[in-house]
Amino acid sequence: MKQRLPLMVFLVLLALGPLFLPEFYVTLLNYIGLYSIVALGLVLLTGVGGLTSFGQAAFVGLGAYATGYLTTAHGLSPWIALLVGLGVTAGVALVLGFLTLRLSGHYLPLGTIAWGISLYFLFGNLEFLGGHTGLTGIPVLEFFGLKLNTGREFYYLIWVVLLSFVLATQNLLDSREGRAIRALKGGGLMAESMGVNTARTKTTIFLIAALFACVSGWLYAHLQRFVNPTPFGLHIGIEYLFMAVVGGAAHVWGALVGAGLITILKQWLQDILPKIFGQSGNFEVIFFGIMLILVLQRAREGIWPWLVRLVPVRQGRRTVAEAEALPRREMPAAGTVLLEVKEARKQFGGLVANDNMNLSVKAGEVMALIGPNGAGKSTMFNCISGVDPVTSGEIRFLGERIDTLTSREIARRGMGRTFQHVRLLPTMSVLENVAIGAHLRGSKGVLSASLHLERAEEARLLAEAKRQLERVGLGAHLFDEAGSLPLGQQRVLEIARALSADPCLLLLDEPAAGLRYLEKQALAELLRRLRGEGMGILLVEHDMDFVMGLADRVVVMEFGEKISEGLPEEVQKDPVVLEAYLGGVE
Ligand code: ADP
Ligand code: MG
Repeated sequence: MKQRLPLMVFLVLLALGPLFLPEFYVTLLNYIGLYSIVALGLVLLTGVGGLTSFGQAAFVGLGAYATGYLTTAHGLSPWIALLVGLGVTAGVALVLGFLTLRLSGHYLPLGTIAWGISLYFLFGNLEFLGGHTGLTGIPVLEFFGLKLNTGREFYYLIWVVLLSFVLATQNLLDSREGRAIRALKGGGLMAESMGVNTARTKTTIFLIAALFACVSGWLYAHLQRFVNPTPFGLHIGIEYLFMAVVGGAAHVWGALVGAGLITILKQWLQDILPKIFGQSGNFEVIFFGIMLILVLQRAREGIWPWLVRLVPVRQGRRTVAEAEALPRREMPAAGTVLLEVKEARKQFGGLVANDNMNLSVKAGEVMALIGPNGAGKSTMFNCISGVDPVTSGEIRFLGERIDTLTSREIARRGMGRTFQHVRLLPTMSVLENVAIGAHLRGSKGVLSASLHLERAEEARLLAEAKRQLERVGLGAHLFDEAGSLPLGQQRVLEIARALSADPCLLLLDEPAAGLRYLEKQALAELLRRLRGEGMGILLVEHDMDFVMGLADRVVVMEFGEKISEGLPEEVQKDPVVLEAYLGGVE
């Protein structure tokens, strides 16, 4: 309860605001609310998802013009116009997202700039939208027979919409889909390997941000009762982005802080700067430019994280509820061939990293892949798991050819992996990182997550993550930040994450590196138990005592090719292997 006190105070003040505030401030708060709705979309898209859009103002314009046109020219109800506006916005966002999101980095920002500019000119040039004068006579919103005539009445609608969007966004981020969204920035490759469809996730947040903007535009049109192109230009799109960045782009409440601060500041600067300079002009634009540079240099995280430190510490969730175990995959019988690599070749330009590689792994065996640094072991792992497909050759998993499948599709079929260079989300908790591994074992989507209707499934996913963490010996670190663990334990975290997917084949790339003697023993014990349960394990490891004490069979690589294969004691005596490792037989 104590942690919620600041929120309660804020809500009470917000609710009482229009009862005592002068008209000017109510209007200001209305605009802050409208801008916050757009900025909230950008928090999700840019702050959390890492995708930058300069074109949000154009989506606001779509919402505003849709209702402006349909209600005045066709006499439609504003509510129908809202639905049409949302539909049009969704269509545009999907096309735009489809064209740009698949491409890397800067295509999305460029695409949104182009879109922002062209829509602005379109609004201004279309006869039926009133050209640069715009549309007037947009009807008053009616809400269950109540006419929202004044700003004071409108205030409640705006803020209820905003707060419900904040809540929904917060719910969404705290869910299976939310973890996928949070993985986009810096963890895309890992997320794909855990079965997340990152292209779809990106499209989803782009769509949500666009729809938020459209709703804001719809509200704006009915508050103003007229629309013209000015508030939907590219410079306003930049301002929205600015609000999200200044407020704290990765935090939902940052949207409100940013929108509030920028709106008030702009108002104030517009008053005061012309007096200082003795002439009129948009001086605040210059000021904002300088401020943006300062924020990006000095406080990348924005104001919100800094504000949070001023109020009493809010403890995150500290317990994981008991929940029914998730259904498990049917394990292939021991001895079944799980993985077969035939004549695999991988080339990076002129460099042949894997050539003529053949190997197989059966259910219930540990196969070790060893060889000097640069031999091509990790490359082989990436080919098998679909992270980086083979140049030629054939890879089969459970009898099916997988060398043309994506890592996501391969994960779905029951292959789990860890990475030599750990790939986790350092600021997320250990528990949440591992829960990403269980992504494919849940199915609830964005809508049920936003409404928190997926709590039963979510509880089962988190309980599974906890169970796997306890299994690997990290049960005491569930709520630590993943990045705070020593590197050796981060690797072990990756094993728990892979296990959360309930795989039948596990690919471990140097799992024991960085572990202490006793930790290595515990890891070996765990791998023996997994093998006993029928799992197949393909293991890359440099610690020969670890490998030889554990592996059933060993494949030795050098310069991208297999130079030996057999039982551990056989390969240890193989002169070719000794040559490769020691440079000659003693
Ligand atoms: P290992 O895991 O056995 O130490 P790797 O598979 O990481 O070896 O690397 C094998 C060879 O392939 C090395 O020469 C490495 O530089 C090269 N290599 C690996 N990945 C890439 C890549 N993405 N692009 C170009 N060369 C690569
Ligand atoms: Mg390697």
